Amino acid sequence: MKKNKTIANALLEGKHRLQLAGKDNYAFEAELLLMEVCQISRVQLFTHGEKMILPEEEARYNDYLNQRESNRPLQYILGQCEFMGLPFYVGEGVLIPRGDTELLVETVLSMSKENNIQQVIDLGTGSGCIPICLAHYGKMNCLGVDISPKALSFARKNAEKNQAVVEWLESDLFDKVPPSWKGSFDAIISNPPYIAKAEIGTLMPEVRDFEPKNALDGGEDGLAFYQRIIKDSRHWLKNGGWLFFEIGYDQGKALLSMMMEAGFSQCTLRKDLAGLDRVVFGKLKEN
Ligand code: GLN
Repeated sequence: MKKNKTIANALLEGKHRLQLAGKDNYAFEAELLLMEVCQISRVQLFTHGEKMILPEEEARYNDYLNQRESNRPLQYILGQCEFMGLPFYVGEGVLIPRGDTELLVETVLSMSKENNIQQVIDLGTGSGCIPICLAHYGKMNCLGVDISPKALSFARKNAEKNQAVVEWLESDLFDKVPPSWKGSFDAIISNPPYIAKAEIGTLMPEVRDFEPKNALDGGEDGLAFYQRIIKDSRHWLKNGGWLFFEIGYDQGKALLSMMMEAGFSQCTLRKDLAGLDRVVFGKLKEN
């Protein structure tokens, strides 16, 4: 009969398999999968290296490694990820929150006090990571909107997990937002789908084959959602309200001119840690 493996052996084998599968963070990923399977901390992985893993743990670990070798994102396998220090449930049907998006949330948070940003709407909320963080760290009143019921079911669970009070609405951008809320938002925020249709095929398989297309596809030029949101935003913002977007690295110029043309002032780009344009914001001119 086959002898069970020790934790140390299982870890080594997992690292090896993921390295062969070409995963850049193979060591880190194998650790996380084994920690999840054995329900142990990272420290225990090393202090309990000689401990045997149970047959059912080994079977599950093996299944996770198979999934990862088939490019299923690590975060979907684990069912969770972290964003701005908070835990979020994720799975098929919802975009995995990206580190880049923390810049968008930080930008809103940093401007909220001085500009009295309290009532905000997040369009295309996905996992709900943006409004949940704004409610948690900024005590803002947020409405999270998404066209996908699946995404909203994750968003609701995430709000509960983080004890954040957020309102949710199933709607294609502003379509189902009650007209009585016109003129009531201090800020509109969105990290919309912004990949040009033709580029989707070139994305890494984890993204291309597993994450929801409708969370990625920004139309022919990647700008379709920005256009729609900018066009409607003046009806929903308060006088002098703010518009914040996450953007693709090469979309800064286009967004600046679209926003200025639509009557936004103080239009500003922010760069991410890689030095690439990542966030744009502007203030609706007061009339
Ligand atoms: N707002 C969510 C996020 O930033 C989802 C964005 C999307 O699906 N395009 O992760």
